Amino acid sequence: MHPPVIHWFRRDLRLADNLALHAALQSGAPVLPVFILDPAIIVSPKISLPRLSFLLAALAALDADLRQQGSCLWLAYGNPSALLPELVRSTAATALYYNRDYSPFALKRDANIDSLLTIPVHIFDDALLLPPGTVMTEAGKPFTVFTPFKRKWLTVRKQSVVDSAGQGAFIPLEDIDRIAVGARHAIPDLSNSIPTLADLGLPSTIAVPPASAAVALQRMDDFLSQRVYTYGEGRNRLAALTADDTYNGSSFLSPYLRFGLLSPRQAYWGARTAYQNAGVAAAQSSVETWVSELVWREFYMHILYHFPHVARGSFRPQYDNLAWYNSTDDIAAWKAGVTGYPVVDAAMRQLQAMGWMPNRARMIVASFLTKDLLIDWRVGERHFMDWLIDGDPAANNGGWQWSAGTGTDAQPYFRIFNPISQSQKFDPDGLYLRRWLPELRDVPDKYIHAPWEMSTPPAAYPRPIVNHAAARQRTLDAFKAVGKGEP
Ligand code: FAD
Repeated sequence: MHPPVIHWFRRDLRLADNLALHAALQSGAPVLPVFILDPAIIVSPKISLPRLSFLLAALAALDADLRQQGSCLWLAYGNPSALLPELVRSTAATALYYNRDYSPFALKRDANIDSLLTIPVHIFDDALLLPPGTVMTEAGKPFTVFTPFKRKWLTVRKQSVVDSAGQGAFIPLEDIDRIAVGARHAIPDLSNSIPTLADLGLPSTIAVPPASAAVALQRMDDFLSQRVYTYGEGRNRLAALTADDTYNGSSFLSPYLRFGLLSPRQAYWGARTAYQNAGVAAAQSSVETWVSELVWREFYMHILYHFPHVARGSFRPQYDNLAWYNSTDDIAAWKAGVTGYPVVDAAMRQLQAMGWMPNRARMIVASFLTKDLLIDWRVGERHFMDWLIDGDPAANNGGWQWSAGTGTDAQPYFRIFNPISQSQKFDPDGLYLRRWLPELRDVPDKYIHAPWEMSTPPAAYPRPIVNHAAARQRTLDAFKAVGKGEP
């Protein structure tokens, strides 16, 4: 048997348009496809069961795709730093291929692994259209404001989608079995079947949407052939238009991009084609707005890369001294969706039911937590990471710091969302509120956004835990105290 090369799958769980995998296949050696599940993550209190559940479903789909090509996904349990050198030795692999992950944790782990291996390690920039370092100011500095970043980003040449069909081969199943026998003593926890949460002894908290590269492509094609043309307005709509709650006006591609079931190149070049087919200017402009969201995704990954301190503290350090109120009762009410503000509660309950909520809802609940309740944005950031199936350290951190007013291209601290007018504007008929808050189903339209104004409010629904106007003032004072005249 010809010695293999290893492709280490991480956040790139697809066979199509996968740059490291493409190069591995082109090497001419049979490719051993590996995923490593670190048991430390499974027992960590920081684990997100919804996200792990989505990941396992995605791994099962990847395994099925590989089996169609006569191979399978090798799942190894262990710490990658300890495991990869063993895997290389026992399989006599001649090279390792993987795609770069730009989070500070992953960069450190990967540098350590590279230093432990004696075979060539080929690393690719696949998770972003333009990796950190390629979108810089004239002075060679990273951008800290989105609009100039985007302007520059649009001018830089982007890699096209790669086609790996007929480019090489994966190790056939029978050879995998042979290698597995040889590797068994060194890597006892090696498996060619993908576990479920139950197999790992973990409870299932939500039903995750179908997770496969085929579903991701289908969703993208559906969205880009029609819905993208009304995205400019539709993206702010809170209520879903589909029975499965996965389409409100945006694409619902975030979990698929998060785990690489879809590549950013597939999304970007797909949008370029949609733009060409758009016809009228309004439809073109909607496509451009959607592309801007892909740029936000890249912007926040660049920010986390260039300014890793944001993972722990405010981008603007003076806000680390902010006198957060941090009431534990308020935090509990926010998490449970019982604040008495219907739009906040509906969104928080959607999060616990689906592991997802639309961007507009995320902005509303983040503003409410940080500005109305004056709670440290890191509390919200952690809770989102616990629940979101698309939870991503860079996008989530960026979104929270933007909402709290502590970030790079932040919403100014004095712009505080009013939860009632947001609700009236983005869910005018109360569809979203009634979908997620059964207690309010019979409340007339007139009161649905502020049921406490009824003469007899529904007994099962709480009164507001805070007065918005008073809370607003409390926050302005707290920010002014540390803002040193900003903004
Ligand atoms: P679309 O509107 O269809 O956008 C297409 C894609 O662009 C998304 O799938 C996503 O990959 C990217 N995108 C869109 N908006 C943003 C944005 N503001 N920042 C970065 N990328 C964006 N997004 C995450 O992927 N993971 C997170 O953990 C996350 N946490 C957030 C926390 C807060 C407080 C806020 C305000 C936003 C957060 N976002 C996060 C961004 C955004 O809300 C989601 O990406 C979006 O709602 C996903 O739905 P969609 O796929 O239908 O998006």
